[in-house]
Amino acid sequence: MEVSGLDSDGKEFKNAEEMWREQIGEDGEQQEKKTQWYREGISYWEGVEASVDGVLGGFGNVNEVDIKGSEAFLQMLLSDRFPNARNNQHLVALDCGSGIGRITKNLLIRYFNEVDLLEPVSHFLDAARESLAPENHMAPDMHKATNFFCVPLQDFTPETGRYDVVWVQWCIGHLTDDDFVSFFKRAKVGLKPGGFFVLKENIARSGFVLDKEDRSITRSDFYFKELFSRCGLHIYKSKVSTLTLINKLINSVLNSAKLL
Ligand code: SAH
Repeated sequence: MEVSGLDSDGKEFKNAEEMWREQIGEDGEQQEKKTQWYREGISYWEGVEASVDGVLGGFGNVNEVDIKGSEAFLQMLLSDRFPNARNNQHLVALDCGSGIGRITKNLLIRYFNEVDLLEPVSHFLDAARESLAPENHMAPDMHKATNFFCVPLQDFTPETGRYDVVWVQWCIGHLTDDDFVSFFKRAKVGLKPGGFFVLKENIARSGFVLDKEDRSITRSDFYFKELFSRCGLHIYKSKVSTLTLINKLINSVLNSAKLL
């Protein structure tokens, strides 16, 4: 990828290859360094409190505007792609890197009959399981969280044809480029016909920014597009939203990609 980037100490990289070489090594040593990259990412999150503020990096106040923006985007997609959803269509979603289940609880569970959650950090997934436990008064066919998978994205292969929507928010930066591509390629088989991915992620102004603390990278829009084309995916709809925080701007892009 011919884009220059930075790490969180301000160090510059000529291109993404140089950064990945430093982080996960050359071919021979790659397995060990890559394992370490993922281990450090997980151990960062293992030290974070299982709360909305925790999974949002201290910006818990973003929750509401994030969910509202996502809801408008999801409604538009669902009415485009599943115009007959009201007619007893059984919709299933997967919440990837779900953390404590914030997105499932505030959004997905209201639109999907079943939601599966995938999250590699067990104390987050335990919190999700607890807060999404079915309530006694619920009818058996109510919307519910069904499966809780405690695995990272790079090791996950979905059940064939199970999902209408695979939601990936604020976690794909933990994946290396190759694992990003192979995850989406494997995950495609998990989509029902007409199903789609939603990727919501912060974007770098250009190139990429490596966060050495949690072992993740923020990619630019261009970088994402290059990776989507390697995945054989194209963008169906995309929306940029700007979440304004006190003295801080986070640019977030919603990309909905569907199969070519
Ligand atoms: N998507 C949630 C959580 C965001 S925090 C939300 O928006 O509320 C980032 C999450 O990514 C954490 O829960 C972290 O444990 C998870 N994560 C870290 N590495 C991951 C990996 N390799 N695969 C999947 N999820 C990962």
